[in-house]
Amino acid sequence: MDNLDTLGRPLRDLRISVTDRCNFRCVYCMPREVFGPDFQFLDRDELLTYEEIVRFAKIAVESGVEKIRITGGEPLVRRDLPLLIQNLKKLEDLKDLTLTTNGALLADLAAPLYDAGLSRITVSLDSLDEDIFREMTDSTVSVQTVLKGIEEAQKVGLTPIKINVVVKRGVNEQSIVPIARYFKDLGHIVRFIEFMDVGNTNAWSLEKVVPAQEILEAINAELPIEAIQANYRGEVAQRYRYLDGSGEFGVITSITQPFCGDCTRARLSPEGELFTCLFGSTGYDFRSLLRTGASDDQIMKELVSLWGRRTDKYSELRTAATQDLIRVEMSHIGG
Ligand code: SAM
Ligand code: SF4
Ligand code: SF4
Repeated sequence: MDNLDTLGRPLRDLRISVTDRCNFRCVYCMPREVFGPDFQFLDRDELLTYEEIVRFAKIAVESGVEKIRITGGEPLVRRDLPLLIQNLKKLEDLKDLTLTTNGALLADLAAPLYDAGLSRITVSLDSLDEDIFREMTDSTVSVQTVLKGIEEAQKVGLTPIKINVVVKRGVNEQSIVPIARYFKDLGHIVRFIEFMDVGNTNAWSLEKVVPAQEILEAINAELPIEAIQANYRGEVAQRYRYLDGSGEFGVITSITQPFCGDCTRARLSPEGELFTCLFGSTGYDFRSLLRTGASDDQIMKELVSLWGRRTDKYSELRTAATQDLIRVEMSHIGG
């Protein structure tokens, strides 16, 4: 029987953040003024070990989770990541195992990740223009490096590949159509994401959001499109196809059209706190349970009970007042 929250939503997706560190400093996620040389990242012994992650994931899968996404921070900076994938892959009843990365280290890791059992991959890339890309990511990594990573991922079979593009007003609107065109021709699925008010450090404001409607109009003006059906309940992106039959893309409208009603996701932080909403302020500490001899049954009971109490619908309630709430940082729990 499904474990439902107070709004009737089942727990289906688990996002596991394996590190709070990153080799980029995207302005919308980890602005360098905050995440600078003095920032206190988690110590190694605070992180869940791979054994602890796999144990928790197994319990979550037994409680209804069907999809796991590995994220971060930047997941590829954590050592021996393929080892984690290999062990998660063994979980019976897990239908989908995927990962989101900025692509900087993907060229070398695509093959080992595929060999370990990763099914497919999402790569974030906000512009094909080197200057705009540098402005967004505040890193010295080039667009070419990320494209090489995507090419390798395709070569080894980590497909279908999705490309996440955060759109920020005044920075990368001009990149929307070139990115749509480029990845359509390669057969990858782009998802344009409205700039979100995650965390408290990214200087978010409504004026910096490019509404999905505007993104759709920009694409449609050059590459005619039409809406298509969602693949399944809880799919985050609204899907569109190109009328010439050359593929599809999506938009993620957390700001202009919230989708809390279908939100089936929970997020595990690197130190083992479970957040039932991307905009949560506190998580439930599962690391303590994992490290103090609790049985699998006890942990499952806590998980089912936590999910059963869940009332989250932040995006639907977003107002000027909610902007003052303390929210977990995106780089801590992943997208
Ligand atoms: N480092 C990896 C990456 O960038 O793909 C994984 C973690 S990152 C936090 C996951 C996703 O969240 C990325 O696609 C990123 O673009 C997106 N993201 C981060 N901050 C965001 C924001 N303020 N609004 C919308 N999306 C955001
Ligand atoms: Fe790092 Fe990803 Fe955040 Fe960019 S979006 S700073 S790559 S965690
Ligand atoms: Fe889910 Fe929270 Fe986002 Fe709503 S605001 S879709 S409940 S993560």
